[in-house]
Amino acid sequence: MKNDFDVVIIGGGVSGCATFYTLNEYTDIGKIALLDKCDKLASISSSSKGNSQTIHDGSIETNYTSAKAAKVKIAADKVKHYALSKGLQNKVIFKMQKIAIGVGDKECDFMTKRHEEFKSIFEGLQFFNKNEIKKIEPKIIEGLDGNDRIENIVASGYLESWCAINFEKLSQSFVEESAKSNKDSEVFLNFKVVKIKENPSGGYTITSKDNRKINAKFVLVNAGSYSLPLAQHSGYGKDLACLPVAGSFYFVPGNLLRGKVYGVQNPKLPFAALHGDPDIAISGVTRLGPTALAMPKLERSKYLFGNISGELLTIDFKVAAMQVLLDLLKDSEIRNFVFRNMFFEVPYFGKRLFIKDARKIIPSLKLEDLTYAKGFGEVRPQVVDMSAKKLELGEKKILTNKGITFNMTPSPGATSCLGNAEIDTLEIAKYLNKTFDIERFYKDLSVIK
Ligand SMILES: Cc1cc2nc3c(=O)[nH]c(=O)nc-3n(C[C@H](O)[C@H](O)[C@H](O)COP(=O)(O)OP(=O)(O)OC[C@H]3O[C@@H](n4cnc5c(N)ncnc54)[C@H](O)[C@@H]3O)c2cc1C
Repeated sequence: MKNDFDVVIIGGGVSGCATFYTLNEYTDIGKIALLDKCDKLASISSSSKGNSQTIHDGSIETNYTSAKAAKVKIAADKVKHYALSKGLQNKVIFKMQKIAIGVGDKECDFMTKRHEEFKSIFEGLQFFNKNEIKKIEPKIIEGLDGNDRIENIVASGYLESWCAINFEKLSQSFVEESAKSNKDSEVFLNFKVVKIKENPSGGYTITSKDNRKINAKFVLVNAGSYSLPLAQHSGYGKDLACLPVAGSFYFVPGNLLRGKVYGVQNPKLPFAALHGDPDIAISGVTRLGPTALAMPKLERSKYLFGNISGELLTIDFKVAAMQVLLDLLKDSEIRNFVFRNMFFEVPYFGKRLFIKDARKIIPSLKLEDLTYAKGFGEVRPQVVDMSAKKLELGEKKILTNKGITFNMTPSPGATSCLGNAEIDTLEIAKYLNKTFDIERFYKDLSVIK
């Protein structure tokens, strides 16, 4: 039957596209469908406007422990190797300098110790003192008055790294490459899934908003912030809640920075610290951000407080979830962060407050140079585990062992797309009694060519 598939992936962001590619290229599963509610792939969090365009391998993300960094590096390397082996240099993946800076004695001490610990995981990781930073990234040192800033400052990172990526184009590449496998796989755009029904005879029927139906033996839900509403609508993930946290960016004209500059992150927060870098999708601008604002929306749209997401109403909103959030706010560091970020979004005042934080990276920034990047940024669907009464710091998977799996993928979900595809492909192949050529998957994606 035309609409009968072995596997249906709901969500054509970078996670769904990476798994679509892995299933098509490395398994003997015959018919795979990829569905997306939008008219093009990767137009929400994975779009080039939605995220920070960074391959987070753990080398400069200071809230990662060395154990977490070693783990994310494996997934990050797969993305790098894929892009390089397909000749996507300077189209999808870009090489630039990347450093994490410590500003002031306390942060310098932290960065120095961290560098010593991390250099064994990250071959060639370099340490830079203030004079060296002045040569490699002068705008970090130049003060507002034109003289060198007074604080001590050190950095750890790389002078060259394939660290910037357009996840939207990467997603498109995954789907283009999938077409080469000559299977009966298909991509359905403008297919908004409203219902996933388990059939008594096995498998699932997926229904779109306009009442089209597709059958699947296995369903993988990679719908970003919409994965949890779809799970709960299907009766799963009732012990979870979602805290959507929007991230916005600011632009400064000109290439003020030569590469990515990250700051020291608060380990209590699951979000990347404010950073600056050259935008790879728009030439000649420096991007600063993202901010972090909790809001009742699963997808950012034109108006920040308009169109509150109806799907949130379908997520079980239990007292326990509220309690977890209130507990978080008891921590003064988190509370200050939350309120500060709320003000970043307020017209007139937001920019004036944001520039104080941004000057940690570029001290000579002038207010008139800073423009709110309208239409940029997206929502991070942070997961609250109500049973454990805690905010999950990363991704979350709802495994049912019944031929349907749901993935929630806040940062660094895009970097982990092939790592997650590997895990899901193993599960799907086992469930359908099919073969995953994992050796070839590793061989292709684990060596830089
Ligand atoms: C401000 C910000 C900065 C970030 N920076 C980075 C970074 O530098 N590096 C990094 O690795 N990660 C970063 N992330 C995280 C990263 O963007 C996400 O982890 C990643 O894009 C998630 O991809 P996804 O495919 O799972 O979800 P998405 O890209 O959101 O894709 C989900 C897809 O599902 C579709 N969909 C949803 N509901 C339905 C439905 N009912 N029916 C059919 N289709 C549906 C949507 O249309 C969408 O295309 C950042 C996130 C934010 C918000």
